[in-house]
Amino acid sequence: KTFADLGICEQLVEACERLGWKNPTKIQVEAIPHALQGKDLIALAQTGSGKTAAFALPTLQALLQASVTSVPAFYACILSPTRELAIQIAEQFEALGSDIGLRCAVLVGGVDMGLQTIALAKRPHIVVATPGRLLDHLSNTKGFSLRTLKYLILDEADRLLNEEFEKSLDEILTAIPQDRKTYLFSATMTMKVRKLQRACLRNPVKIEV
Ligand code: AMP
Repeated sequence: KTFADLGICEQLVEACERLGWKNPTKIQVEAIPHALQGKDLIALAQTGSGKTAAFALPTLQALLQASVTSVPAFYACILSPTRELAIQIAEQFEALGSDIGLRCAVLVGGVDMGLQTIALAKRPHIVVATPGRLLDHLSNTKGFSLRTLKYLILDEADRLLNEEFEKSLDEILTAIPQDRKTYLFSATMTMKVRKLQRACLRNPVKIEV
């Protein structure tokens, strides 16, 4: 199968080609058509499977379709358990979105809040964040809210559900519109992941590779 077979638009097929991606990976074949139909997803997938593009491509395609009429700021938020993963996710969004004027902000701990505040003032389309720092900005950064959010992506959800993050996650969820799409990606299916699924997802399609 090709990316076009999955329903990916020409602009993004070209972005994949530029990155040297000839064919979609298994998780991408399974996930992308459902995502493009507007379904929520719960996917069990490991790092290296191509999971980042499996959620990034449908999100970017929706953003492209939306931006015909307006430029949607704070369109999608990706939550990551670690700084390093957040940076990698943002790099993939930026690589895929390089010719569509995509703006991304990375909100992680251990980095100056002020620089992140400047990045948020540019009204990025995509925010990639660790839970604690996202909450810091939601409480303290003027003009930043997630009320316009259309996509929430929980990456490595099993690792987001430790004691440190659980409370932040609860608070973040109250700041995000109910009317949105949600993709939950996890390496393992645990009791806590199931509970999060029930709390966050609507009739999700389940994918396992
Ligand atoms: P991930 O599982 O998202 O961490 O992705 C692992 C690596 O696979 C990343 O470096 C991607 O750039 C790469 N990748 C993602 N999708 C494809 C694809 N369809 N073909 C080749 N490489 C890919």
